[in-house]
Amino acid sequence: MTPTEFRRRLHADPELSFHEERTARFISECLAAEGIEHRPTAGTGILARLVGSGDPRRAVVLRADIDALPVREETDAAWKSLNDGIMHACGHDIHAAVLFGVLQRLKHEGGFRGTIFGLFQPAEECNPGGASLVLAENPFDGYEVTAVIGEHVEAGLAVGTLGFCPGKFMASNDELRFTVRGKGGHAAMRSALKDPVIAAAELVLRLAELNSRECVVSTGRIIADGATNVIPDEVHIEGTMRTFDEEVRRRAKRSIADIAAQTDSRYGVETETDIGEGYPCVVNDERLTATARELAAERFRAVDLQPRTTSEDFGRYCERYPSLFYRLGAGERSGATHTSLFDPDERAIDTGIEFMSLLAIKLSETYE
Ligand SMILES: [Zn+2]
Ligand SMILES: [Zn+2]
Repeated sequence: MTPTEFRRRLHADPELSFHEERTARFISECLAAEGIEHRPTAGTGILARLVGSGDPRRAVVLRADIDALPVREETDAAWKSLNDGIMHACGHDIHAAVLFGVLQRLKHEGGFRGTIFGLFQPAEECNPGGASLVLAENPFDGYEVTAVIGEHVEAGLAVGTLGFCPGKFMASNDELRFTVRGKGGHAAMRSALKDPVIAAAELVLRLAELNSRECVVSTGRIIADGATNVIPDEVHIEGTMRTFDEEVRRRAKRSIADIAAQTDSRYGVETETDIGEGYPCVVNDERLTATARELAAERFRAVDLQPRTTSEDFGRYCERYPSLFYRLGAGERSGATHTSLFDPDERAIDTGIEFMSLLAIKLSETYE
């Protein structure tokens, strides 16, 4: 099977995070047909392994995500999603096809040292994220992991272009949920109220003051289900927080708790604050990034990228191993990811395979 055929098969049968059963079976069949050793990981993921020359305990991990999104596809591609309301709208089908192509090539052409793992990771799009489940299994114990490499298609970046950002690249992502409990009642009888709507309004404004270059706090959902003349007993608020630094993240979490306590004492309400433990920052290893960028510039077009406020559970690998996450040009007319019309240029698959294979071989040798 060619990597492009592999991609089209995945694209036509997308599955949501933590439900990638048919996807995992298909990947397993394709790897088996190539004679590539592999096993399940994190429920619906697959971990493949190739062993080259030299010390097999030295390992490079190549990671692709495999889950799709709850989006109804509206492209007219011949390989359009057959699963109503589910679509590979983030390009994870491309990532998986690139990884399959790389493993196929390395298996048949060799030329690398140590061990190369091919990790088809489930559930990137959904907290707690498949990466945390993979790592909880400690699959790389007994190995010295010298690099974890991941990529993501980049909408709007020309095919044949690769984008890099050393150091802080993608943000941490924490979901914020608040329930502000007061005392509702007749809206005209204010002295009898502990008005949670006013307290919630102040809470939202104070949270917005935490926004800075290093920190994003946005509120996307506020429910105060009263009426013109009814103040409800409670108000629900939901939002998201992004930072580029784990220390900034810790400080912002403390500030949020302080702000909630202050509005509570001011308005006599009680706020329950739930800050879910989301994805950590993606921080690229400087040395790996420099090596990869240089290699990309020799064979392709390499560009520098700015840090971005979106997030990725790839950050979990960055916490534990030297890691690199780069961007693969998906074409200027691909449309935006997470939309029903996202249609990456499939020629990106060839660039992706070529580059990731070269990088894997180079990294497997560099650390001898
Ligand atoms: Zn996505
Ligand atoms: Zn994605």
